[in-house]
Amino acid sequence: MWLMGTTATHRGPVLIGGGELGRCPTRIHHSRFNDAARSTSAVVERRIAEGRRWEETVVAHILERLPAWTMISSTDGVFDRTAPVVIDPTVRAHSREAITTVLLRAGVPLIFGGRISAPHLHAVGAPDLLVRLDDGYAPIDIKHHKVIGERGVPARLAPADQLQDTGGSLRTFRSERVIDLLQVAHYWTLLDSLGYASARRIAGIIGSEPAVTCLWVDLADGNPRLLDRYQTALDDAIAVVEAGQDQPGVPLVPAVWRGECRSCPWADLCRAELEDVDHVSLLPAIGAIETKHLLAAGISTTSHVADLDTGALADEFEIPDEAILQARARGAGTLLRRTGADVTLPNTAVEIDFDVETYRGVLYLAGLLITDADGSRFEPIADWTGTPGGERRVLADLFAFFDNVASSDDAVVYHWTGYERTILREAGERHGLSLGSAPSVDAWFDAYACDLWSWTKERLVSPSGYSLKVIAPLCGFEWRDDDPGGAQSEIWYSDLLKGDASRRSRLFEYNEDDVAAQLAIRRWVRARW
Ligand code: SF4
Repeated sequence: MWLMGTTATHRGPVLIGGGELGRCPTRIHHSRFNDAARSTSAVVERRIAEGRRWEETVVAHILERLPAWTMISSTDGVFDRTAPVVIDPTVRAHSREAITTVLLRAGVPLIFGGRISAPHLHAVGAPDLLVRLDDGYAPIDIKHHKVIGERGVPARLAPADQLQDTGGSLRTFRSERVIDLLQVAHYWTLLDSLGYASARRIAGIIGSEPAVTCLWVDLADGNPRLLDRYQTALDDAIAVVEAGQDQPGVPLVPAVWRGECRSCPWADLCRAELEDVDHVSLLPAIGAIETKHLLAAGISTTSHVADLDTGALADEFEIPDEAILQARARGAGTLLRRTGADVTLPNTAVEIDFDVETYRGVLYLAGLLITDADGSRFEPIADWTGTPGGERRVLADLFAFFDNVASSDDAVVYHWTGYERTILREAGERHGLSLGSAPSVDAWFDAYACDLWSWTKERLVSPSGYSLKVIAPLCGFEWRDDDPGGAQSEIWYSDLLKGDASRRSRLFEYNEDDVAAQLAIRRWVRARW
Protein backbone atom coordinates (compact mmCIF):
# COMPACT_ATOMS: atom_id res chain seq x y z
CA MET A 1 0.00 0.00 0.00
CA TRP A 2 1.41 3.43 -0.95
CA LEU A 3 0.86 6.25 1.47
CA MET A 4 -0.74 9.39 0.05
CA GLY A 5 1.68 11.78 -1.57
CA THR A 6 4.37 9.23 -2.22
CA THR A 7 5.91 8.26 -5.51
CA ALA A 8 5.90 4.60 -6.53
CA THR A 9 9.43 3.77 -7.58
CA HIS A 10 11.64 0.92 -8.64
CA ARG A 11 15.15 0.01 -7.65
CA GLY A 12 17.78 1.75 -9.71
CA PRO A 13 21.32 2.99 -9.31
CA VAL A 14 21.55 5.34 -6.35
CA LEU A 15 23.51 8.52 -7.02
CA ILE A 16 23.91 11.03 -4.20
CA GLY A 17 24.39 14.68 -5.13
CA GLY A 18 26.68 17.13 -3.37
CA GLY A 19 23.77 19.11 -1.91
CA GLU A 20 22.45 16.04 -0.07
CA LEU A 21 25.54 15.45 2.07
CA GLY A 22 24.98 16.18 5.74
CA ARG A 23 21.30 16.97 5.15
CA CYS A 24 18.49 15.75 7.37
CA PRO A 25 17.82 12.15 6.24
CA THR A 26 14.06 12.67 6.38
CA ARG A 27 14.47 15.62 4.02
CA ILE A 28 16.49 13.53 1.56
CA HIS A 29 13.70 10.95 1.62
CA HIS A 30 10.87 13.46 1.12
CA SER A 31 12.74 15.32 -1.61
CA ARG A 32 13.11 12.12 -3.60
CA PHE A 33 10.00 10.12 -2.79
CA ASN A 34 7.26 12.45 -1.61
CA ASP A 35 5.47 14.11 -4.47
CA ALA A 36 3.05 15.96 -2.21
CA ALA A 37 3.27 19.71 -2.64
CA ARG A 38 6.11 21.03 -0.57
CA SER A 39 5.44 24.31 1.11
CA THR A 40 6.92 27.20 -0.77
CA SER A 41 7.91 30.42 0.86
CA ALA A 42 8.60 33.74 -0.83
CA VAL A 43 11.49 34.18 1.60
CA VAL A 44 13.12 30.88 0.64
CA GLU A 45 12.49 31.48 -3.07
CA ARG A 46 14.15 34.85 -2.79
CA ARG A 47 17.11 33.36 -0.94
CA ILE A 48 17.57 30.82 -3.74
CA ALA A 49 17.36 33.53 -6.42
CA GLU A 50 19.88 35.68 -4.54
CA GLY A 51 22.20 32.67 -4.26
CA ARG A 52 22.07 32.21 -8.04
CA ARG A 53 22.74 35.89 -8.62
CA TRP A 54 25.71 35.74 -6.26
CA GLU A 55 27.16 32.77 -8.17
CA GLU A 56 26.85 34.71 -11.42
CA THR A 57 28.47 37.76 -9.82
CA VAL A 58 31.42 35.72 -8.55
CA VAL A 59 31.94 33.97 -11.88
CA ALA A 60 31.81 37.31 -13.72
CA HIS A 61 34.29 38.76 -11.22
CA ILE A 62 36.76 35.91 -11.66
CA LEU A 63 36.51 36.11 -15.44
CA GLU A 64 36.80 39.89 -15.57
CA ARG A 65 40.39 39.79 -16.71
CA LEU A 66 40.47 36.26 -18.08
CA PRO A 67 39.18 35.60 -21.58
CA ALA A 68 37.14 32.39 -21.39
CA TRP A 69 35.66 29.93 -23.85
CA THR A 70 32.06 28.85 -23.62
CA MET A 71 31.18 25.28 -24.60
CA ILE A 72 27.83 23.73 -25.38
CA SER A 73 29.00 20.35 -26.63
CA SER A 74 31.85 17.93 -26.00
CA THR A 75 32.40 17.82 -29.75
CA ASP A 76 32.91 21.57 -30.02
CA GLY A 77 36.53 20.70 -30.48
CA VAL A 78 37.89 24.22 -30.57
CA PHE A 79 38.95 25.64 -27.26
CA ASP A 80 42.17 26.97 -25.86
CA ARG A 81 43.45 24.50 -23.28
CA THR A 82 45.34 27.29 -21.52
CA ALA A 83 42.20 29.42 -20.97
CA PRO A 84 39.22 29.01 -18.63
CA VAL A 85 36.12 27.32 -20.02
CA VAL A 86 32.52 27.99 -19.05
CA ILE A 87 30.06 25.20 -19.80
CA ASP A 88 26.91 26.91 -20.99
CA PRO A 89 24.16 26.80 -18.32
CA THR A 90 21.64 25.42 -20.83
CA VAL A 91 23.67 22.24 -21.41
CA ARG A 92 21.94 19.11 -20.09
CA ALA A 93 23.48 16.87 -17.44
CA HIS A 94 24.73 14.10 -19.72
CA SER A 95 26.45 16.49 -22.16
CA ARG A 96 27.75 18.57 -19.28
CA GLU A 97 29.51 15.51 -17.94
CA ALA A 98 30.95 14.65 -21.34
CA ILE A 99 32.29 18.20 -21.77
CA THR A 100 33.79 18.14 -18.27
CA THR A 101 35.64 14.92 -19.08
CA VAL A 102 37.09 16.48 -22.24
CA LEU A 103 38.21 19.57 -20.34
CA LEU A 104 39.75 17.62 -17.44
CA ARG A 105 41.64 15.48 -19.90
CA ALA A 106 42.86 18.59 -21.72
CA GLY A 107 43.98 20.17 -18.43
CA VAL A 108 42.26 23.54 -18.82
CA PRO A 109 43.05 25.84 -15.87
CA LEU A 110 39.47 26.63 -14.78
CA ILE A 111 36.24 24.77 -15.55
CA PHE A 112 32.98 26.53 -14.68
CA GLY A 113 29.74 24.52 -14.44
CA GLY A 114 31.21 21.02 -14.65
CA ARG A 115 29.54 17.72 -13.77
CA ILE A 116 31.22 14.51 -12.64
CA SER A 117 29.90 11.17 -11.47
CA ALA A 118 31.09 7.80 -10.23
CA PRO A 119 28.27 5.23 -10.11
CA HIS A 120 30.47 2.72 -8.23
CA LEU A 121 30.70 5.32 -5.42
CA HIS A 122 26.98 6.20 -5.69
CA ALA A 123 28.10 9.76 -6.26
CA VAL A 124 27.36 12.57 -8.68
CA GLY A 125 28.20 16.24 -8.40
CA ALA A 126 28.12 19.62 -10.11
CA PRO A 127 30.97 21.68 -8.64
CA ASP A 128 30.70 25.36 -9.46
CA LEU A 129 34.37 25.49 -10.35
CA LEU A 130 37.25 23.08 -10.93
CA VAL A 131 40.71 24.59 -10.61
CA ARG A 132 43.85 22.99 -11.97
CA LEU A 133 46.69 23.12 -9.44
CA ASP A 134 50.26 21.92 -9.95
CA ASP A 135 49.36 18.31 -9.11
CA GLY A 136 45.77 17.94 -10.28
CA TYR A 137 42.34 19.50 -9.90
CA ALA A 138 40.58 20.84 -6.81
CA PRO A 139 36.89 21.76 -6.54
CA ILE A 140 35.52 25.12 -5.42
CA ASP A 141 31.91 25.86 -4.57
CA ILE A 142 30.32 29.29 -4.33
CA LYS A 143 28.04 30.04 -1.38
CA HIS A 144 25.83 32.96 -0.63
CA HIS A 145 26.77 33.14 3.05
CA LYS A 146 29.85 34.10 4.97
CA VAL A 147 32.38 31.34 5.59
CA ILE A 148 35.22 33.04 7.46
CA GLY A 149 34.65 32.62 11.19
CA GLU A 150 36.20 32.45 14.63
CA ARG A 151 35.87 28.72 15.28
CA GLY A 152 36.28 25.83 12.88
CA VAL A 153 38.93 24.19 10.72
CA PRO A 154 41.98 26.13 9.55
CA ALA A 155 41.82 27.51 6.02
CA ARG A 156 44.01 29.51 3.64
CA LEU A 157 42.74 32.64 1.97
CA ALA A 158 43.20 33.23 -1.76
CA PRO A 159 42.05 36.37 -3.61
CA ALA A 160 39.80 35.87 -6.64
CA ASP A 161 42.58 36.78 -9.08
CA GLN A 162 44.95 34.20 -7.52
CA LEU A 163 42.66 31.25 -6.92
CA GLN A 164 45.50 28.77 -7.41
CA ASP A 165 47.36 30.20 -4.42
CA THR A 166 46.47 27.62 -1.78
CA GLY A 167 49.08 28.75 0.74
CA GLY A 168 47.71 32.22 1.57
CA SER A 169 47.12 33.76 4.97
CA LEU A 170 45.63 31.61 7.69
CA ARG A 171 41.91 31.93 8.48
CA THR A 172 39.22 29.78 10.06
CA PHE A 173 36.36 28.17 8.20
CA ARG A 174 33.10 28.67 10.14
CA SER A 175 32.26 25.50 12.06
CA GLU A 176 28.51 25.97 11.51
CA ARG A 177 29.06 25.81 7.74
CA VAL A 178 30.79 22.45 7.76
CA ILE A 179 28.10 21.07 5.45
CA ASP A 180 29.77 23.13 2.67
CA LEU A 181 32.96 21.18 3.27
CA LEU A 182 31.16 17.84 3.03
CA GLN A 183 29.94 18.97 -0.36
CA VAL A 184 33.40 19.87 -1.68
CA ALA A 185 34.83 16.69 -0.11
CA HIS A 186 32.28 14.88 -2.28
CA TYR A 187 33.57 16.65 -5.39
CA TRP A 188 37.20 15.99 -4.46
CA THR A 189 36.40 12.29 -3.96
CA LEU A 190 34.72 12.17 -7.35
CA LEU A 191 37.75 13.82 -9.00
CA ASP A 192 40.00 11.37 -7.18
CA SER A 193 38.02 8.37 -8.42
CA LEU A 194 38.39 9.69 -11.97
CA GLY A 195 42.13 10.21 -11.50
CA TYR A 196 42.14 14.00 -11.74
CA ALA A 197 42.28 15.14 -8.10
CA SER A 198 45.10 17.06 -6.51
CA ALA A 199 46.92 14.66 -4.19
CA ARG A 200 46.89 17.38 -1.54
CA ARG A 201 43.21 16.69 -0.78
CA ILE A 202 42.19 20.31 -0.74
CA ALA A 203 38.98 22.03 -1.71
CA GLY A 204 37.76 25.61 -1.65
CA ILE A 205 34.69 27.62 -0.81
CA ILE A 206 33.98 31.14 -1.98
CA GLY A 207 31.58 32.73 0.50
CA SER A 208 29.80 36.07 0.46
CA GLU A 209 32.52 38.06 2.22
CA PRO A 210 32.74 41.65 0.89
CA ALA A 211 35.81 40.88 -1.24
CA VAL A 212 35.53 37.77 -3.41
CA THR A 213 37.98 35.34 -1.84
CA CYS A 214 38.37 31.58 -1.67
CA LEU A 215 38.97 29.67 1.56
CA TRP A 216 41.08 26.58 0.86
CA VAL A 217 40.62 23.76 3.36
CA ASP A 218 42.66 20.59 3.84
CA LEU A 219 40.08 17.79 3.77
CA ALA A 220 42.33 15.66 5.96
CA ASP A 221 41.82 18.22 8.75
CA GLY A 222 39.18 18.09 11.45
CA ASN A 223 38.37 15.64 14.18
CA PRO A 224 37.01 13.38 12.84
CA ARG A 225 38.65 14.16 9.51
CA LEU A 226 36.43 15.95 7.00
CA LEU A 227 36.88 13.13 4.50
CA ASP A 228 35.77 10.59 7.11
CA ARG A 229 32.75 12.71 8.03
CA TYR A 230 31.97 12.96 4.36
CA GLN A 231 32.12 9.17 3.92
CA THR A 232 29.73 8.68 6.84
CA ALA A 233 27.36 11.28 5.39
CA LEU A 234 27.50 9.61 1.99
CA ASP A 235 26.82 6.16 3.48
CA ASP A 236 23.87 7.56 5.45
CA ALA A 237 22.39 9.22 2.36
CA ILE A 238 22.80 6.03 0.30
CA ALA A 239 21.02 4.02 3.01
CA VAL A 240 18.13 6.53 3.06
CA VAL A 241 17.67 6.43 -0.71
CA GLU A 242 17.99 2.66 -0.98
CA ALA A 243 15.41 2.21 1.79
CA GLY A 244 13.18 4.79 0.08
CA GLN A 245 13.25 2.83 -3.16
CA ASP A 246 11.84 -0.16 -1.28
CA GLN A 247 9.42 1.81 0.87
CA PRO A 248 8.75 5.30 -0.49
CA GLY A 249 5.87 5.92 1.90
CA VAL A 250 7.98 5.69 5.05
CA PRO A 251 11.27 7.53 5.59
CA LEU A 252 14.08 5.34 6.90
CA VAL A 253 14.78 7.96 9.57
CA PRO A 254 11.73 9.58 11.18
CA ALA A 255 11.59 13.35 11.53
CA VAL A 256 13.42 15.00 14.42
CA TRP A 257 12.95 18.76 14.83
CA ARG A 258 16.29 20.51 14.23
CA GLY A 259 17.79 23.81 13.10
CA GLU A 260 17.55 22.80 9.45
CA CYS A 261 13.75 22.54 9.76
CA ARG A 262 13.35 26.32 9.74
CA SER A 263 14.25 26.55 6.06
CA CYS A 264 13.01 23.12 4.99
CA PRO A 265 10.13 22.82 2.52
CA TRP A 266 8.78 19.87 4.51
CA ALA A 267 8.61 21.79 7.80
CA ASP A 268 4.80 21.97 7.92
CA LEU A 269 4.48 18.25 7.31
CA CYS A 270 7.10 17.25 9.91
CA ARG A 271 5.95 19.78 12.50
CA ALA A 272 2.39 18.46 12.33
CA GLU A 273 3.63 14.87 12.68
CA LEU A 274 5.85 15.75 15.63
CA GLU A 275 3.16 17.83 17.36
CA ASP A 276 0.78 14.88 17.00
CA VAL A 277 3.06 12.68 19.05
CA ASP A 278 4.32 15.45 21.36
CA HIS A 279 7.83 14.62 20.18
CA VAL A 280 10.67 15.35 22.55
CA SER A 281 12.72 17.10 19.83
CA LEU A 282 10.18 19.96 19.85
CA LEU A 283 11.90 21.31 22.96
CA PRO A 284 14.44 23.94 21.86
CA ALA A 285 17.00 22.78 24.46
CA ILE A 286 16.96 19.28 22.96
CA GLY A 287 19.27 18.91 19.99
CA ALA A 288 19.87 15.90 17.77
CA ILE A 289 22.28 14.22 20.23
CA GLU A 290 20.00 14.78 23.22
CA THR A 291 17.06 13.40 21.22
CA LYS A 292 19.02 10.21 20.58
CA HIS A 293 19.79 9.76 24.29
CA LEU A 294 16.23 10.45 25.35
CA LEU A 295 14.69 8.11 22.79
CA ALA A 296 17.17 5.40 23.79
CA ALA A 297 16.04 5.83 27.40
CA GLY A 298 12.39 5.51 26.36
CA ILE A 299 11.63 9.22 26.85
CA SER A 300 9.91 10.24 23.64
CA THR A 301 7.44 12.96 24.62
CA THR A 302 7.76 16.46 26.01
CA SER A 303 5.16 15.64 28.67
CA HIS A 304 7.39 12.80 29.90
CA VAL A 305 10.27 15.30 30.18
CA ALA A 306 8.02 17.73 32.06
CA ASP A 307 7.42 15.08 34.74
CA LEU A 308 11.15 14.61 35.43
CA ASP A 309 12.98 16.29 38.28
CA THR A 310 15.70 18.73 37.30
CA GLY A 311 19.09 17.01 37.26
CA ALA A 312 17.48 13.76 35.99
CA LEU A 313 19.56 11.29 33.99
CA ALA A 314 18.48 9.42 30.89
CA ASP A 315 20.70 6.51 30.02
CA GLU A 316 23.62 8.12 31.94
CA PHE A 317 23.01 11.35 30.05
CA GLU A 318 22.05 14.38 32.11
CA ILE A 319 18.93 15.95 30.68
CA PRO A 320 19.40 19.75 30.49
CA ASP A 321 17.37 21.44 33.24
CA GLU A 322 16.33 24.02 30.66
CA ALA A 323 14.66 21.27 28.62
CA ILE A 324 12.67 20.15 31.65
CA LEU A 325 11.57 23.74 32.32
CA GLN A 326 10.67 24.21 28.64
CA ALA A 327 8.61 21.02 28.73
CA ARG A 328 6.71 22.32 31.76
CA ALA A 329 6.08 25.67 30.03
CA ARG A 330 4.87 23.75 26.98
CA GLY A 331 2.51 21.68 29.13
CA ALA A 332 1.19 24.85 30.75
CA GLY A 333 0.93 26.57 27.35
CA THR A 334 2.45 29.75 28.70
CA LEU A 335 5.62 31.54 29.81
CA LEU A 336 6.79 30.45 33.24
CA ARG A 337 8.68 32.60 35.69
CA ARG A 338 12.11 31.24 36.62
CA THR A 339 12.47 30.39 40.29
CA GLY A 340 13.45 33.49 42.27
CA ALA A 341 13.51 35.76 39.19
CA ASP A 342 12.86 39.44 39.84
CA VAL A 343 10.37 40.45 37.16
CA THR A 344 10.28 44.13 38.04
CA LEU A 345 10.60 46.24 34.89
CA PRO A 346 12.18 49.72 34.80
CA ASN A 347 9.69 52.25 36.11
CA THR A 348 9.81 55.44 34.02
CA ALA A 349 7.22 58.04 33.03
CA VAL A 350 7.92 57.46 29.35
CA GLU A 351 8.49 54.12 27.64
CA ILE A 352 9.63 53.94 24.04
CA ASP A 353 9.47 50.73 22.07
CA PHE A 354 11.99 50.82 19.26
CA ASP A 355 12.52 48.59 16.23
CA VAL A 356 14.46 49.15 13.02
CA GLU A 357 13.76 47.90 9.52
CA THR A 358 16.70 47.45 7.19
CA TYR A 359 17.32 46.33 3.66
CA ARG A 360 20.64 44.56 3.06
CA GLY A 361 21.94 46.01 6.32
CA VAL A 362 20.91 49.58 5.44
CA LEU A 363 18.52 51.38 7.77
CA TYR A 364 15.37 52.89 6.26
CA LEU A 365 12.78 52.84 9.07
CA ALA A 366 13.07 53.42 12.80
CA GLY A 367 9.78 52.62 14.52
CA LEU A 368 9.13 54.41 17.82
CA LEU A 369 6.06 53.69 19.94
CA ILE A 370 5.97 56.28 22.68
CA THR A 371 3.88 55.49 25.75
CA ASP A 372 3.29 58.04 28.51
CA ALA A 373 0.45 59.36 30.65
CA ASP A 374 -1.42 60.40 27.47
CA GLY A 375 -1.37 56.89 25.97
CA SER A 376 0.64 55.35 23.14
CA ARG A 377 1.50 56.89 19.76
CA PHE A 378 3.54 55.53 16.87
CA GLU A 379 6.10 58.02 15.57
CA PRO A 380 8.26 56.36 12.91
CA ILE A 381 11.26 57.97 11.24
CA ALA A 382 11.55 56.74 7.68
CA ASP A 383 13.10 57.33 4.30
CA TRP A 384 11.97 55.34 1.28
CA THR A 385 14.53 56.45 -1.27
CA GLY A 386 16.88 53.51 -0.71
CA THR A 387 19.85 55.89 -0.88
CA PRO A 388 22.79 56.53 1.48
CA GLY A 389 21.48 60.08 1.92
CA GLY A 390 18.13 58.65 3.03
CA GLU A 391 19.74 56.42 5.60
CA ARG A 392 21.79 59.36 6.87
CA ARG A 393 18.62 61.43 7.38
CA VAL A 394 16.89 58.65 9.33
CA LEU A 395 19.93 58.18 11.51
CA ALA A 396 20.45 61.90 12.18
CA ASP A 397 16.79 62.33 13.24
CA LEU A 398 16.95 59.22 15.38
CA PHE A 399 20.14 60.30 17.13
CA ALA A 400 18.54 63.69 17.86
CA PHE A 401 15.52 61.86 19.32
CA PHE A 402 17.82 59.67 21.43
CA ASP A 403 19.67 62.73 22.73
CA ASN A 404 16.30 64.09 23.89
CA VAL A 405 15.53 60.79 25.60
CA ALA A 406 18.84 61.03 27.46
CA SER A 407 18.12 64.57 28.61
CA SER A 408 14.61 63.73 29.85
CA ASP A 409 16.00 61.47 32.58
CA ASP A 410 12.69 59.65 32.97
CA ALA A 411 12.42 57.53 29.84
CA VAL A 412 13.65 54.14 28.71
CA VAL A 413 13.93 52.68 25.22
CA TYR A 414 13.00 49.02 24.79
CA HIS A 415 14.26 46.92 21.90
CA TRP A 416 14.44 43.23 21.04
CA THR A 417 17.96 41.63 20.80
CA GLY A 418 21.21 43.43 20.01
CA TYR A 419 20.28 44.01 16.35
CA GLU A 420 19.24 47.66 16.83
CA ARG A 421 22.46 48.70 18.51
CA THR A 422 24.55 46.91 15.87
CA ILE A 423 22.70 48.56 13.00
CA LEU A 424 22.99 52.02 14.57
CA ARG A 425 26.68 51.55 15.40
CA GLU A 426 27.47 50.48 11.82
CA ALA A 427 25.32 53.20 10.23
CA GLY A 428 26.91 55.82 12.52
CA GLU A 429 30.35 54.72 11.36
CA ARG A 430 29.24 54.76 7.72
CA HIS A 431 27.96 58.32 7.91
CA GLY A 432 30.32 59.78 10.51
CA LEU A 433 27.37 60.55 12.82
CA SER A 434 27.44 60.24 16.59
CA LEU A 435 25.22 60.84 19.59
CA GLY A 436 25.71 63.97 21.68
CA SER A 437 24.57 62.26 24.87
CA ALA A 438 26.99 59.32 24.99
CA PRO A 439 30.50 58.56 23.78
CA SER A 440 29.28 55.69 21.59
CA VAL A 441 26.12 53.93 20.46
CA ASP A 442 26.90 51.04 22.79
CA ALA A 443 27.39 53.39 25.76
CA TRP A 444 24.06 55.05 24.94
CA PHE A 445 22.22 51.72 24.87
CA ASP A 446 23.90 50.65 28.14
CA ALA A 447 22.68 53.84 29.82
CA TYR A 448 19.22 54.45 28.38
CA ALA A 449 17.90 51.25 26.82
CA CYS A 450 16.66 47.83 27.90
CA ASP A 451 17.00 44.77 25.70
CA LEU A 452 13.62 43.18 26.37
CA TRP A 453 14.74 39.96 24.69
CA SER A 454 17.57 39.46 27.23
CA TRP A 455 15.30 40.58 30.04
CA THR A 456 12.68 37.98 29.03
CA LYS A 457 15.16 35.17 28.47
CA GLU A 458 16.80 35.65 31.86
CA ARG A 459 13.55 35.70 33.81
CA LEU A 460 10.99 33.62 31.93
CA VAL A 461 10.96 30.14 30.45
CA SER A 462 9.46 29.86 26.97
CA PRO A 463 8.16 26.57 25.58
CA SER A 464 9.44 27.33 22.09
CA GLY A 465 12.22 29.88 21.92
CA TYR A 466 12.60 33.62 22.34
CA SER A 467 11.78 35.20 19.03
CA LEU A 468 9.40 38.15 19.33
CA LYS A 469 7.01 36.23 17.06
CA VAL A 470 6.89 33.44 19.64
CA ILE A 471 6.85 35.41 22.88
CA ALA A 472 4.31 38.13 22.01
CA PRO A 473 1.54 35.67 20.99
CA LEU A 474 2.04 33.90 24.33
CA CYS A 475 1.19 37.28 25.85
CA GLY A 476 -1.97 37.55 23.77
CA PHE A 477 -0.58 39.75 20.95
CA GLU A 478 -1.37 39.17 17.28
CA TRP A 479 0.21 40.79 14.21
CA ARG A 480 -2.15 42.26 11.67
CA ASP A 481 -0.17 40.68 8.85
CA ASP A 482 -0.63 36.93 8.60
CA ASP A 483 2.98 36.44 7.46
CA PRO A 484 5.12 38.73 9.58
CA GLY A 485 8.90 38.42 9.55
CA GLY A 486 12.10 40.37 8.95
CA ALA A 487 12.98 38.48 5.77
CA GLN A 488 9.45 38.96 4.49
CA SER A 489 9.67 42.69 5.16
CA GLU A 490 12.82 42.84 3.00
CA ILE A 491 10.76 41.48 0.11
CA TRP A 492 8.11 44.16 0.65
CA TYR A 493 10.77 46.85 0.71
CA SER A 494 12.34 45.51 -2.46
CA ASP A 495 8.86 45.63 -4.10
CA LEU A 496 8.52 49.21 -2.90
CA LEU A 497 11.82 50.20 -4.47
CA LYS A 498 10.53 48.69 -7.71
CA GLY A 499 7.50 50.98 -7.56
CA ASP A 500 4.85 49.12 -5.55
CA ALA A 501 3.78 52.00 -3.28
CA SER A 502 1.20 49.81 -1.47
CA ARG A 503 4.08 48.14 0.36
CA ARG A 504 4.77 51.30 2.35
CA SER A 505 1.66 50.98 4.53
CA ARG A 506 2.32 47.27 4.99
CA LEU A 507 5.85 48.03 6.22
CA PHE A 508 4.58 50.74 8.56
CA GLU A 509 1.95 48.37 9.97
CA TYR A 510 4.45 45.58 10.36
CA ASN A 511 6.93 47.83 12.15
CA GLU A 512 4.19 49.33 14.34
CA ASP A 513 3.08 45.84 15.32
CA ASP A 514 6.65 44.86 16.20
CA VAL A 515 6.94 47.71 18.66
CA ALA A 516 3.39 47.18 19.95
CA ALA A 517 4.30 43.52 20.55
CA GLN A 518 7.04 44.57 22.97
CA LEU A 519 4.62 46.77 24.87
CA ALA A 520 2.11 43.91 25.01
CA ILE A 521 4.73 41.66 26.58
CA ARG A 522 5.42 44.15 29.37
CA ARG A 523 1.71 44.70 29.99
CA TRP A 524 1.24 40.95 30.25
CA VAL A 525 4.15 40.61 32.69
CA ARG A 526 2.97 43.52 34.84
CA ALA A 527 -0.59 42.21 34.95
CA ARG A 528 0.55 38.75 35.95
CA TRP A 529 3.22 39.38 38.55
S1 SF4 B 1 11.31 19.59 8.46
FE1 SF4 B 1 13.10 19.04 9.61
S2 SF4 B 1 12.83 16.88 10.11
FE2 SF4 B 1 11.43 17.38 8.44
S3 SF4 B 1 12.52 16.88 6.59
FE3 SF4 B 1 12.86 19.02 6.98
S4 SF4 B 1 14.77 19.13 8.13
FE4 SF4 B 1 14.04 17.01 8.22
